[in-house]
Amino acid sequence: TATVDTAALTAWVREFGRLIAAGRDLLTELDSAIGDADHGVNMDRGMTAVLAALAADPPTTPADVLKRTGMTLVSKVGGASGPLYGTAFLRMAAAAGAADALDAPGYAKVLRAGLDGVVARGKPAAGDKTMYDALAPAVDALDEALAAGRPLGEALRAALRAAEQGRDATIPMVARKGRASYLGERSAGHQDPGATSVTMLVSAAATVLGG
Ligand code: ADP
Ligand code: MG
Ligand code: MG
Repeated sequence: TATVDTAALTAWVREFGRLIAAGRDLLTELDSAIGDADHGVNMDRGMTAVLAALAADPPTTPADVLKRTGMTLVSKVGGASGPLYGTAFLRMAAAAGAADALDAPGYAKVLRAGLDGVVARGKPAAGDKTMYDALAPAVDALDEALAAGRPLGEALRAALRAAEQGRDATIPMVARKGRASYLGERSAGHQDPGATSVTMLVSAAATVLGG
């Protein structure tokens, strides 16, 4: 049975940071269409600080990885996404508890706690054109695949497909949360930046924890 330990979670966060850095211009371009053109810059500044913090003082437990990631994002990322991602990682840390390693259902519980954190902080509903529209289907797909007896790697690949579909489904949506909602109907026809970055988080999990 798969175990997700401190090193694996650190690798997940590092891979997320790498994808954010590589996708920085895309995320900013998406945010320039329906927001204030800073999502790539915000997330890259935050994740660069996270990676530096983890490298300077390597964490010793899964919860430590997640807590330090959340705290760094809260302090370094402004706007909507800092508190949203920060709360997600802090909730994940709380769900990881004192465990030295997570099994597959334990990791799924941690990811769902992150989703619950996004909901608690931003009050998004399905169809509001936010990161929720990619993350919620991914977490549901992960739970479903694990309940069906699939190994973690396969379940994470199913989660990634669900996230990608959810991200793509934000294109025609009219935004009801965040800055994009100020545009009303004019927000339709554009992919949501946060749904795009959170799909990178799921992609990083599939790559690093899915082997
Ligand atoms: P800001 O809009 O403050 O400039 P960012 O550009 O970094 O912040 O992040 C924008 C993203 O945050 C959006 O694309 C959306 O996915 C997400 N977002 C905004 N408001 C909410 C909310 N209330 N709930 C969930 N996600 C939200
Ligand atoms: Mg923005
Ligand atoms: Mg902003």
